Amino acid sequence: MTHAIRIHTHGGPEVMRWEEIPLPEPGPGEARVRHEAVGLNYIDVYYRTGLYKAPAMPAILGMEGAGIVTAIGAGVSHLAVGDRVAYASGPIGAYATERSIAADRLVKLPAEIDTRTAAAMMLQGMTAQYLLRRTHTVKAGETIVVHAAAGGVGLIMCQWAKHLGATVIGVVSTPEKAELARAHGAAHVVIGISHLVEEVKRITQGAMVPVVYDSIGKDSFTASIDCLAPLGLMVSFGNASGPVGPVDVGMLGAKGSLFLTRPSLATYTSKRSDLERSAADLFDVVRQGAVKIRINQTFPLRDAALAHIALEARKTTGSTVLLP
Ligand code: NDP
Repeated sequence: MTHAIRIHTHGGPEVMRWEEIPLPEPGPGEARVRHEAVGLNYIDVYYRTGLYKAPAMPAILGMEGAGIVTAIGAGVSHLAVGDRVAYASGPIGAYATERSIAADRLVKLPAEIDTRTAAAMMLQGMTAQYLLRRTHTVKAGETIVVHAAAGGVGLIMCQWAKHLGATVIGVVSTPEKAELARAHGAAHVVIGISHLVEEVKRITQGAMVPVVYDSIGKDSFTASIDCLAPLGLMVSFGNASGPVGPVDVGMLGAKGSLFLTRPSLATYTSKRSDLERSAADLFDVVRQGAVKIRINQTFPLRDAALAHIALEARKTTGSTVLLP
């Protein structure tokens, strides 16, 4: 048996229930992992509310965990019982004390990275990795805009982009969050979206920026587009304020032959080789100390609903882990 946070219907945090459920043996190609820590991510909120549909009900939430391999299924050769591993991918099911998952989604942890740090960083850190190194290759000397700069993905992006030599304009909602983003590498911080475009114009002396990383969605889309230089790239990678909705493609032409992408970590790590490269890149910057993982909140896994309430109320900063 295992304990898990399940939902039987989509809705608010009150639909999350702590339940005891059977733990099947790992099937062919799977490994069973006893979680030492589970990552909290905004995507968990989308699956809870129904913005993203769970494949079946009841559903166990969660995309990210780290722990110890306790059993392996037929045909798994790259892992052994006792290995320390982490993952950041679907299918959902991480809010559990123990689970089985496709073994090719698991990455072995280097000795220097503990499981709590791994659960805090795999999803948010590999997201920062593909956004900064693949969706757009951030170059030294570039000025970029990063929304939710004091959040989980945000604090990692600020540090990593600075390490790459970029100047980060972070966007946050409070002076406290502004201080935190600055302490983690944002050269400039704008509080709120209402003055964002004029601030970016002032900071860049009218040049505007080659790329905006926007995880807010509905509330910030238009302002983000207006921060771009001609031929700039709008990276719309999240919907914390709600989905963007239909886009007028002609507008991209009128505003300077802009590019628009809606990327996801699932696509960027679907090949095992990409997953390994992304994780290795992340482990490197963390080991060097260029990126520090800030676990600013922990909750018992059984109280995951309280973690969701805090995340949606914009009360969290940095990363949050749930402890089984
Ligand atoms: P965060 O820790 O960044 O928390 C979300 C933050 O969004 C809040 O703290 C808040 O910061 C900001 N925000 C702005 N408007 C709202 C709103 N209306 N309601 C709630 N929050 C709001 O979360 P994560 O680091 O887990 O994720 C950040 C974003 O990145 C999410 O949108 C997530 O979906 C996306 N993401 C996308 C991935 C992909 O591959 N496409 C992968 C991983 C994450 P403030 O108060 O400063 O405005």
